[in-house]
Amino acid sequence: MIQAPKGTDDVLPDEAARRELVEAHARRILGAAGYRRIETPAFEATELFTRGVGEATDIVQKEMYTFDDGGGRSLTLRPEGTAPVCRAYLEHGMRKLAQPVKLWYLSSFFRAEAPQRGRYRQFWQVGAEAIGSAGAESDAELIVLLAELLESLGVKGTRLRLSSLGTPATRSEYREELKAFLRAHQDRLSAEVRSRIDLNPMRAFDATDPGTREVMRGAPTLLDRLAPEDAEHFDQVRRLLDDAGVRYELDPALVRGLDYYTRTVFEFTSDALGAQSGIGGGGRYDGLIELLEGPHTPAAGWAAGVERMLMAAGELPAPADYVDLFVALAAPDGSRIAFELAREARRAGLQAQLELAGRSLKGQLKHADRIGARYVAIVGDARPQATVSLKDMESGEQRETSAGTVIPTILRGSRLS
Ligand code: AMP
Repeated sequence: MIQAPKGTDDVLPDEAARRELVEAHARRILGAAGYRRIETPAFEATELFTRGVGEATDIVQKEMYTFDDGGGRSLTLRPEGTAPVCRAYLEHGMRKLAQPVKLWYLSSFFRAEAPQRGRYRQFWQVGAEAIGSAGAESDAELIVLLAELLESLGVKGTRLRLSSLGTPATRSEYREELKAFLRAHQDRLSAEVRSRIDLNPMRAFDATDPGTREVMRGAPTLLDRLAPEDAEHFDQVRRLLDDAGVRYELDPALVRGLDYYTRTVFEFTSDALGAQSGIGGGGRYDGLIELLEGPHTPAAGWAAGVERMLMAAGELPAPADYVDLFVALAAPDGSRIAFELAREARRAGLQAQLELAGRSLKGQLKHADRIGARYVAIVGDARPQATVSLKDMESGEQRETSAGTVIPTILRGSRLS
């Protein structure tokens, strides 16, 4: 039997219903704040990600599904949404629109990671990006919106970690300081951290081995090195979050996986998840649009994993499928009437299903019961005149009626007797 590739998941109907809830909440919460939906293609020019995500990142180094389009052009299945949205912003001249341009998406992404619980090779994210504003209000608003989304989904045990990465200049000075610090203690670092001192020294904060962790406790932090205007920006974000009652922990060692962040960075985790506790995060990326050859354009955004939100939400009520009417067929003659009755019921706003499996009448009634039908219309011979009886599945009552009165009766929800 052919099976789905490892690290991909079928979204079966019950799960799809839960996902629709995520979509509905995202649309409501983000829509109310003026964010509009965008969808970008599932694959892009590879260069978009090598430039826009960063050569040194795990994503670009080892997680991209890259292929040749047959004409010598390298394409990549999108591993994240921010670079594609910024590409679209530039490609469609969105900088001529009123700024900031606020966009949201719900799309699938692809990363060649080792699959495990909460980590897939194809997964879904809800994301929001506000492009064209530098103000701290934008950062705070984005964080509040994600907090609201998580709350409305009943995501349990959330924690928000917050930090600022400053501007590229401060960051590169700090990187040199950190590299020097790491080199001075390299004999106590793990081999992996040691080998990446030059490529990605910030990763040392993520290390789990005791030696490196001990060293990192004495490491200089970027928060202490922020330029005054970045520190003020960060303070303002914090004040706004405090006012909004959003609780956070300062984490000067917060390292986002992507290279392009500047100033604010944040991440929501959930204690309800295991090892893969990250639910969603993001930050400010004032330099990204320029990296993609656009004009300097400040921007901020986030992405949250749909599977992980749902995992941490526990039992979300899957909206019950409600069947108002099942149209059963007692004689083959009545099939056109039955077909038409089901169509009319749907037009009248009812959820109506038709017998499609050629079952006996007894089998059909059993089936109607199984799918939870509220009423069953049993259509008999069409000649000389269509006979229809309507059965109330709750009370068990059944009475002769005509095709024309079935729908009004159900709409009135009236008892048959
Ligand atoms: P990132 O773009 O890496 O910051 O990821 C944002 C969010 O997407 C994470 O917090 C997760 O919820 C989710 N996510 C990232 N990678 C995966 C994956 N491989 N499988 C499932 N969810 C993921």
